[in-house]
Amino acid sequence: MKGLMMHRPLKVADLITFAAETYPSGEIVSVRTEGDVHRTTYGETARRVAQLAHGLKSLGVKPGDRIATLAWNGYRHFELYYAISGIGAICHTINPRLSAEQMLYIVSHAEDRLLFVDLTFVPILERLAAHLPKDLRFIIMTDRAHMPETSLEGAFCYEDLLDGQPGEIDWPEFPEDQAAGLCYTSGTTGEPKGTLFSHRSTVLHAFSMCVTIPKILREGVRILPVVPLFHVNAWGLPYAAPLSGVSLIFPGSALDGKSLFDLMDREKVYSAWGVPTVWHGLLNEITQRGRLPEGLGDIVVGGSAASRSLIETFESRGVNVCHAWGMTEMSPLGTQCNLPSEMDQMAFDERIDRKQSQGRRVFGVDMKIVDDAGIRLPHDGKTPGHLYVRGNTITSGYFNNDEASRPVFDGEGWFCTGDIATIDQDGFLNITDRSKDLIKSGGEWISSLDLENIVMSHPGVANCAVIAVPDEKWDERPLLIVQAREDAQPQKQELFDLLAERVAKWQVPDDVVFVDELPLTATGKVSKLTLRKQHAGEAE
Ligand code: AMP
Repeated sequence: MKGLMMHRPLKVADLITFAAETYPSGEIVSVRTEGDVHRTTYGETARRVAQLAHGLKSLGVKPGDRIATLAWNGYRHFELYYAISGIGAICHTINPRLSAEQMLYIVSHAEDRLLFVDLTFVPILERLAAHLPKDLRFIIMTDRAHMPETSLEGAFCYEDLLDGQPGEIDWPEFPEDQAAGLCYTSGTTGEPKGTLFSHRSTVLHAFSMCVTIPKILREGVRILPVVPLFHVNAWGLPYAAPLSGVSLIFPGSALDGKSLFDLMDREKVYSAWGVPTVWHGLLNEITQRGRLPEGLGDIVVGGSAASRSLIETFESRGVNVCHAWGMTEMSPLGTQCNLPSEMDQMAFDERIDRKQSQGRRVFGVDMKIVDDAGIRLPHDGKTPGHLYVRGNTITSGYFNNDEASRPVFDGEGWFCTGDIATIDQDGFLNITDRSKDLIKSGGEWISSLDLENIVMSHPGVANCAVIAVPDEKWDERPLLIVQAREDAQPQKQELFDLLAERVAKWQVPDDVVFVDELPLTATGKVSKLTLRKQHAGEAE
C-alpha cells in the first residue's frame, strides 16, 4: 500500500526562495575581480536571481540547455547557480585550471550555449575563441563601467542582462530528476567525464549536509568556501548555506595564505572549507603572525588526505578540524570526521589519530569494500579493499558517455570510487591508496596515463611511468620515470617541452628520473606500487 502523502518535486530554486523568506539578512560577501568587496543578503540575492532568470530567458535559454561558467567564488557565480537551474537549464561549471585542450573538449562535449566568464578569464577565452563553437555566446560577469575591450564577438555585460528585469519570478515546475548542474572531472583515461546532478540529488545533498554538520551549518555562522564553485559545487555549500541560514564569504581569486588570513580576520569567518594545500598556506601565515584570524573556530578539509600535522596544528590552537571525503560523482560528500560525543573524553593524541581518518558515512551514502573478485571484505579496520558507494546523491552514469560509465558500476549497481580503503567496526573509513591512476596536486587532478601517452610519443623513450610523490605544499606532485631506448638519450628539457605543449603548466612533472629498466608486475604492466615505494621521498 502506498503512503498517502503529497509528492512535490524537490527543486534547487526553492532553497534560495526559502532563504529569502527565512534568513533575508543572511549575508553574501564577495571579494570581486573588480578589486573591491561586495556585500549583499539572501533577500537581495533572491531578487537578483529572479532578474537573471528573466534575463536568461530573454536570451532564449530553454530547459535542458547547458550554460557554462568560468568564474571564481563570488555572488554573481552564486546567482548563476540558482537562475540557470531555476528555469530548468543546467549550470555547467568549468574548471579554469584545465588545459586549453581539455576546456575546448568540455565546452563542445557539453554543447554549452552561453558562457559566463569572470574578468580574469576573458584573456583565456580570447586565446581559445577561434576553436570554440561558433554559436557560443559570452557574458562577462561585470558591470558596464568595468566592461573590458575584448575580441570576444558580441560579448554581453552581466549587469545589463539583469537591468530592468522584474525581481520576482514564478519558478517553473518540472520533475525533480531534471538535471540542474554539470561538472566534469578527470578520468584515468580519455577526456574528462561529466557528472550531471539533478534537482533531487542537489536538494537531498543539501539536507544531508545540514543534518551531518549541524554545529557549523546553522543560522548566523560565517563560512568561507575556499573550495571553488567550479569544483563540485564548492562541496555543496551554495545549497546548504541558504537552507541553514549560513552567511557566505566568497574569496574571489586571491587564495594565498595572507589574503585568506586578512579576509577571515576582517569578516570574522568561523568555518573555512578547502583542500590541504590551502591550509598549509594559511598555517604559515598564522605562524608568522603568531595568532589565528579572529573568530576562526573550524576548518573543513577534504579533496586530499589531511596530514596528521595539519590536523594537530589547528586542533592544538583550538580550531576544530573536520576531515571529509567525497567525490565529484558523489555531489560530493561521502564521509566526515567530526567525532561523536562518546569520544569527547579521548586523549588529545588519540582524537587526532581518529581525525586523520576520513570519518563516517553521511546519511544516504552506503559503502562497501571488496577484493579484486568483488567479494565483500570485513569492516575490521585492517583489511583494505576497493571502495564502492551507492545512494541518491551518487552518479548513475557519466553525461553522454556510456563507454566511461560502464566500467565504474558493479553488477549490483554500486559505483567504484577508485579509492582503496579500510572501514572499521565503528564505521570509520581510512583511505589507504588509490587504484585509479591519477595524481592529485593542490586539489586538482593530473592523469598519469595522459602524461605517459605524450611522453611515449618521444622517439627516444622505450617506456615510462608517471607516479605521484608526496609533496609538502601540493600534497602530491607527478614524477616522470623514463626508460630510454638503447640507442637514445632523451633530455629532460625535451620531455618537459613536449608535455608543456599539451597539458597545463602545473601538470608538467617537476622532475624526470631515468632508469635502465622499469619494474613490472606479474602481468607485465609497469608496477606503480613498486615505483611509488622506490620514489616515496623524491619530492620532499
Ligand atoms: P574529486 O572528484 O576531484 O573531488 O576527487 C575525489 C577523490 O579525491 C576521491 O576519490 C579521493 O581519491 C580523493 N579524496 C577526496 N577527499 C579525500 C580525503 N579526505 N582523503 C583522501 N583522499 C581524498
